[in-house]
Amino acid sequence: MLAIRIHESGGVDQLRADDVPVPTPAAGEIRFKVEAVGLNFIDTYKRSGLYQVPLPHTLGGEAAGVVTAVGAGVVDFKPGDRVASAAVNGAYAHEALTLAAQTVRIPAGLTSQQAAAVLLQGMTAHYLACDTWPLKAGDTALVHAAAGGVGLLLVQIAKLRGARVFATVGTDDKAKLAREAGADAVCIYSRENFAEAARAFTGGRGVDVVYDGVGKDTFEGSLSSLRPRGMLATFGNASGAVPPFSPLLLSQNGSLFLTRPTLAHYTLTTAELRARSDDLFAWIAAGKLKVRVGATFALTAAADAHRALESRATTGKVLLLP
Ligand code: NDP
Repeated sequence: MLAIRIHESGGVDQLRADDVPVPTPAAGEIRFKVEAVGLNFIDTYKRSGLYQVPLPHTLGGEAAGVVTAVGAGVVDFKPGDRVASAAVNGAYAHEALTLAAQTVRIPAGLTSQQAAAVLLQGMTAHYLACDTWPLKAGDTALVHAAAGGVGLLLVQIAKLRGARVFATVGTDDKAKLAREAGADAVCIYSRENFAEAARAFTGGRGVDVVYDGVGKDTFEGSLSSLRPRGMLATFGNASGAVPPFSPLLLSQNGSLFLTRPTLAHYTLTTAELRARSDDLFAWIAAGKLKVRVGATFALTAAADAHRALESRATTGKVLLLP
């Protein structure tokens, strides 16, 4: 079967279309025919070497499709079931393995493409807004890269929880998308000082929480956007990894809380995973959460998809279609 693999870390030219054996599920695993792959920024970190992976490596952590085989001990799923997972081992392929314990059933009424478009980024937005800093009515939240995959979902979930949302984006077109998702104010941080604008948005006080998936370029501005004892949740490195810094910086900016969360630690149990995905699916069914697929690429054009994501040319979710 076809799999898109890297044999060395590096640029998009490292992505190779290889012919590999169909994998056999081990105990606790399921195998499924991949109908849609969710592209995520982490795929580019694994390709570039920012996050180390064993080589050769089939990329891709998120996909949806139909179960074709189950390993020993799997009782929740059987061949033919429609499933999605954000813990896939090698999703850039025609068939892939994942853990049954990290898999959800796709509800009737949702397509594989919709499921692959919402699961990983949606559960990320869910844990950030509901657990990392559990937003309550009237809280103020700064959401960076608000027209991106996580961003558009996070703005909507923050609004569902009653927060006031200050969003940052790179372009006017993205500003329009952030406003449509519910942002109360939008700053184009490529030409405006977002920390000053966030302070003005809160009457000089500073926001309660900053959700920052941009990383290096926004880190210091994010700290200066916060009110005393506010929280910076730095959850990604789209512009590069945040360099080492002194904890004194947190004190100087107002006795701040800093966390660097990751989805795996907020989906530790199957019950927790399903509680998050159930909320997402229920919001979608009720018309409260819109999932924007900004672009689709053929799986064999994964290099073009990586290039688009890394050059800030995408909005919402990007899917790869086998
Ligand atoms: P996005 O769709 O948000 O794409 C990244 C966006 O970041 C770009 O569109 C761009 O928006 C902005 N950006 C700012 N500076 C740069 C830069 N130098 N290069 C590229 N992009 C830049 O991606 P995802 O939704 O997949 O991921 C968003 C972030 O969330 C990533 O950092 C990702 O690693 C992280 N993440 C973390 C998880 C976790 O649990 N910790 C889980 C899922 C994602 P603009 O043009 O508006 O600036």
